[in-house]
Amino acid sequence: MKYYSLNRKAPNTTFKDAVIKGLAPDKGLYFPERITPLPKSFFDDLDKLSHSEIAFEAIKQFVSPDIPEATLKTIVEETLSFDFPVVSLDDSISTLELFHGPTMAFKDVGARFMARCLGYFNKDNTNEVTVLVATSGDTGGAVANGFLGVKGVNVVILYPSGKVSDIQEKQLTTLGQNIKALEVNGTFDDCQAMVKTAFLDESLTSKMQLTSANSINVARWLPQLFYFIFAYKQLHNTHKDIAFSVPSGNFGNVCAGMMAQRLGLPIKHFIASNNANNVVTQYLSTKAYNPKPSVQTISNAMDVGDPSNFIRIQEMHGNDFEALKDNLSSYSFTDEETRSAMAEIHDNYNYVADPHGAVGYLGCKSHLETTPEAHCVFLETAHPTKFLDVVEEVIDEKQPLPSQIEAVMGKEKVATKIDSYDDLKSFLLG
Ligand SMILES: *Cc1c(COP(=O)(O)O)cnc(C)c1O
Repeated sequence: MKYYSLNRKAPNTTFKDAVIKGLAPDKGLYFPERITPLPKSFFDDLDKLSHSEIAFEAIKQFVSPDIPEATLKTIVEETLSFDFPVVSLDDSISTLELFHGPTMAFKDVGARFMARCLGYFNKDNTNEVTVLVATSGDTGGAVANGFLGVKGVNVVILYPSGKVSDIQEKQLTTLGQNIKALEVNGTFDDCQAMVKTAFLDESLTSKMQLTSANSINVARWLPQLFYFIFAYKQLHNTHKDIAFSVPSGNFGNVCAGMMAQRLGLPIKHFIASNNANNVVTQYLSTKAYNPKPSVQTISNAMDVGDPSNFIRIQEMHGNDFEALKDNLSSYSFTDEETRSAMAEIHDNYNYVADPHGAVGYLGCKSHLETTPEAHCVFLETAHPTKFLDVVEEVIDEKQPLPSQIEAVMGKEKVATKIDSYDDLKSFLLG
């Protein structure tokens, strides 16, 4: 598969090159040249296939020929060594639990897949690659965990001081080895801006190979299409039209769902569920796209003011506003509404949702008001104990800590504080 840049001012390139570069030389996001649907029989027979078999078939065309089939099989098996259960709340609403991986966030899938691809591409290379990543919460932990100990790859994570949860901070600052954490005196947008500046800084990029592990990287973004298929496998006997409500920040996850749809997965509609950071909700109702500085919310992994993957979503709909609106709705919810939803889910269904999942649940409810005959699946993108303060306060119940979380809580945080891009640059060169 070849990839082109959405800015259309850079040459088309291979999967390998797109993964190593992250962003195209013209600063555009890479997008696959073609999407070939899988045969209908593949979706009819999902029951007969394991998760790894499904993932292998679904991703093959996007990585071929750069990764041999036998290696790809190993990569997907290692990536998917945990479960993806669908839990039904009632006849109309289910949740797809994406938090059973090592850092208890859906980003584990993309991070683990990308780390293994980069490890393969780098196996006989003497030049080190530096993965530079900004995180508003979960990316850092998932990337740190996924890349820990991968030879020839250094990871530098920027996170906004005081704006990630305690558990999230522990997950990205306690691993050591090839993982370094930078605590930025600023917001997530400041972190993301510093990372972008670094990629554009030739005095830096001439000295080191930098790449990104945010969802702009095709190896982080594409494997997220797997679990939409896993959900369908568990749900297709409902015989209802299936919609997915995706709690969205940078819009990589919902965009990956749309890739699964292009492969032929019968998804009727997508809902991008947002917190107060509502650029896309506004866009779909006014046709005006106005990026804004992010505002802080209790669903902090979605505090994004200018979602980087939205351009891919527009591309997939031929940059046609009406076509996009047919396939995607977007709703925005306040922290108050999110807290009420967490209480409602607990009271009505005896289920504990984290704030991101709760925003997704609210998206389902809004969708079902206009489309009551549908079945809506909201993605539960993080385990509730990752947001312990809010969860315990709202449902007034102590939460047991899962072993993955307990393991990091006692470890000591190691992070370097930085204030500016110059600090970042001297850290990278130093
Ligand atoms: C990253 C993240 C999101 C947002 O995903 P995008 O792909 O950036 O839209 C939602 N929930 C959680 C818990 C996350 O970590």
